[in-house]
Amino acid sequence: MVQSSQASTHNDILIVDDTPANLRLLLQVLQGAGYRVRAVTNGERALAAVRHSQPELILLDIRLPDIDGFEVCSILKTDSISHQIPIIFISALDDTNAKVNAFRAGGVDYVTKPIHPEEVLARVATHLALRQLNLQLQQANKNLAIRLNELETTNRLLGQEIVARRAAEERNAHLLAHERERVLRLDQLLNEMMIISGPLDLTSVYQAIVNGVTRVLPCVSAALARAQQANTYLEIVAVANLSPDVVGIQIPWQDPFLGRVAAEKIMLQWETSPPELQSTGETLAAPLIVGDRLEGIIVVVEATSKISFDHADFQLLRLFTQQATIAIQNTRLFEEVQHLARIDPLTGLFNRRYFYEIAQRDLERMRRSRGSLGLMLLDIDHFKQINDQYGHHAGDQALQLVADLLRQRVRTADVSARFGGEEMVVLLPDASLEQTLVVAERIRTSIATLTIESEHGSFQLTVSIGVTIVSGKQLDCELDDLIIYADQACYAAKHAGRNQIKVWNESVITIQPE
Ligand code: GH3
Ligand code: MG
Ligand code: MG
Repeated sequence: MVQSSQASTHNDILIVDDTPANLRLLLQVLQGAGYRVRAVTNGERALAAVRHSQPELILLDIRLPDIDGFEVCSILKTDSISHQIPIIFISALDDTNAKVNAFRAGGVDYVTKPIHPEEVLARVATHLALRQLNLQLQQANKNLAIRLNELETTNRLLGQEIVARRAAEERNAHLLAHERERVLRLDQLLNEMMIISGPLDLTSVYQAIVNGVTRVLPCVSAALARAQQANTYLEIVAVANLSPDVVGIQIPWQDPFLGRVAAEKIMLQWETSPPELQSTGETLAAPLIVGDRLEGIIVVVEATSKISFDHADFQLLRLFTQQATIAIQNTRLFEEVQHLARIDPLTGLFNRRYFYEIAQRDLERMRRSRGSLGLMLLDIDHFKQINDQYGHHAGDQALQLVADLLRQRVRTADVSARFGGEEMVVLLPDASLEQTLVVAERIRTSIATLTIESEHGSFQLTVSIGVTIVSGKQLDCELDDLIIYADQACYAAKHAGRNQIKVWNESVITIQPE
């Protein structure tokens, strides 16, 4: 897993803020961390700066003297040159409408003023890492397309050669048949390359690899064994035409058959199958090397229609493993990008963006089934004071503990996410108001009984929770509305003295945010 991108002088960040004090602080913090930073004080200059040279990330204030941050963001997001630049909003506007608008305009994150250096650095690092991974993934996909293209060309040329030879070498029928079979196999290889490059999760890629190799090589069955735990053993993770009992079998690194292929990273052939595979017949095994690391080995068992695997089979298996490697690499990258794009790095909860995706799906499902759905927004009380008194690190630790508690206290179908700095949100599909309140109360009391140890002493936490419920009758209710209702109810809970739960109703909206 990529932790965070190292600040390097190559990371060019643009800050757009019209408050000199903020600008100075951000410049100091980011330059101090090794980033190259440019700063401008209004929207027009921001657009001009991006046109002049594209930054890798933008920190954008919402209130600017000319065009506001939302509009600057929308303009950049509709331009094909700048649309991929991640934009983090920085603003003193800590209300839900502003946050909703920021995400609507295409922002990736939102940081509220006053600025906390660690928080800004953490978010900048996450979004730069995500951008880097995305670029790598795009490049990997391009490489894949190039390789497939090359192979297609080779295949076509071979095909043409055969047609030419057919006319000239009627006599040499045996050789012709051999060449034709080779083209057929290469053609099959091309097909399999497309197939194994398709799936987006590793388990499916492994399965596609073993299925594919049995179609490309003249063999009956195949297995893929993955290198585990810093190369201490291999574990069989996928099989084709072998007993499913074989999956999960662990092979020691010292194994004279498969262990040797792994340890020496060479292709080997045996007259009998390794005993672990519970099969018979001639066996060929090749290492799968991703970068300079051994991913695992592909084992093909029992040559068919031949006495033995020959040189051409070796070559085919080599080509196939190269492609399998690319497919695995791509999938890993994709999984990393997915993870980083969905998970908040501090708490391990889903982030706001992914929450919106899931919640939107649940809301639509609720509309179809005319069921109900509970939503709670939870905000830690006086969190700023906790940070000030016990340090930002203790604050982070508190956020992690609250996140752990949320994970323990909700049902598996419920979705909890970090909504903002010290705000979490929980969506409870198919829950009634009573059920949502039971869960909210369980969360509130268990947080209130937590004691957090820090180097500046131990402390306790409370949370205020706003709850809203939507049922099949309210079909026109949008997700943003629900969030705003829960937020208003949460403000009402704060207003009433904190450490309590409020349910949204008409009277709640008359209480203005503090
Ligand atoms: P209230 O009871 O009204 O909610 O008061 P509060 O102090 O909790 O609310 P306020 O919005 O004034 O402050 C929120 C604080 O949360 C300020 C911000 O620095 C802090 N914060 C946001 N994200 C993080 C983070 O990732 N780590 C830490 N340690 N603090 C964070
Ligand atoms: Mg808050
Ligand atoms: Mg708070």
